[in-house]
Amino acid sequence: MAFLTINKNKTPLGIYVHVPFCKSKCQYCDFYSRCNLDERTRDGYLKAVCDHIREAGPLAPGYRVDSIYFGGGTPSYFGAEGLATILTDIRRCFDVAGDAEITFEANPDSVSDALLKRLRAEGFNRVSLGIQCDDDEILQRIGRVHTFAQAVDAFQRIRQAGFKNVSVDLMYGLPGQSLVMWQDTLENVLRLRPEHVSCYGLTLYPGTPMYEKQDQYAIASDDAQADMYLSAVDILQRNGYHQYEISNFAKGGKRSKHNLKYWMGGEYLGFGPSAASDFAGKRFKVVSHLNTYIRGIAEGGQILEEVEEIPFRERAGEYLMLRMRTTYGISKEEYEKKYLLDFAPLQQVLEQNQRYGLTRFVNDRWQLTPEGFLVSNRIIEDLQLAQEGSESFARRR
Ligand code: SF4
Repeated sequence: MAFLTINKNKTPLGIYVHVPFCKSKCQYCDFYSRCNLDERTRDGYLKAVCDHIREAGPLAPGYRVDSIYFGGGTPSYFGAEGLATILTDIRRCFDVAGDAEITFEANPDSVSDALLKRLRAEGFNRVSLGIQCDDDEILQRIGRVHTFAQAVDAFQRIRQAGFKNVSVDLMYGLPGQSLVMWQDTLENVLRLRPEHVSCYGLTLYPGTPMYEKQDQYAIASDDAQADMYLSAVDILQRNGYHQYEISNFAKGGKRSKHNLKYWMGGEYLGFGPSAASDFAGKRFKVVSHLNTYIRGIAEGGQILEEVEEIPFRERAGEYLMLRMRTTYGISKEEYEKKYLLDFAPLQQVLEQNQRYGLTRFVNDRWQLTPEGFLVSNRIIEDLQLAQEGSESFARRR
């Protein structure tokens, strides 16, 4: 099973554009975004991001872009004109494959026929729609500014505009949401027949309104969340969705090319405030502050807040952490060949967990079971601890 398509001559590259604007802020959200989108701010952001792309293009002559992802924030709220301008600059400055996956995130309240028509004509071929759940009271409680009826309407418009690859984002463990309500959400959403479904458990992040006021919300317990998760895996599988990552399910092979870059260790470049990159052996992140970003690009100042060269052993630890999130899993042969480290200590951990039904060995690869995904952090930590003591084949020689 090939997760990443490797071009014979050029290295595949993903491009991420962070669009940091939302109509209003959801109670649980810790992504960098702001709500004041006046004309001056819009123009400033647009110019900065396009200049940034033009600066970076010449640094990637040996790469071919096979996925472009506009996330945020709410790209659909930013509008078609701005997204089209950025995409045109990406195409001018990078070698973009003819069959590249080009996604934009959308919220139901900012999807119009005109926006969809324009973006489809520009070459966008995938939409990721934030629905979250089918209960209007809960949507309101968590700060969403749309109803479920609006979400259904938006989905149908997306289809009518010709998008054949649509993903929906859903959340479980929301305040006041029971297991039955979550199952209803899944059933109602699956009637729309999306190609891809992402299901995220509610996480409380420090600094968000929901974290600060958590006593006021009836938030699901860990056990209740676990039941919802296992139920989602079951319902989605019965409906023909293949789970390929902890939270992600796809039909007909429509896995997210872009997200797979993160999980499979591919290279990507990020533009816009707070965007992260992993490129040419280095990982870096743009400052999470719009004005600092705009000023930095205009004046040639510092726009990166973290730059790291990743040591080899750390890459091996990342391999364990990221691959074990996917159903592709890890293999002895791949690991020893790539990192020159002994797999035996990892094998022990994997076999121990296999006895409890948390890991399985399929087609020469180790992967987590759905129950294992529930405790993935603990298992990955054990694997990384085992790795710390493992002997390097390079040292033996
Ligand atoms: S719309 Fe998305 S990015 Fe914006 S606040 Fe809500 S969850 Fe965060």
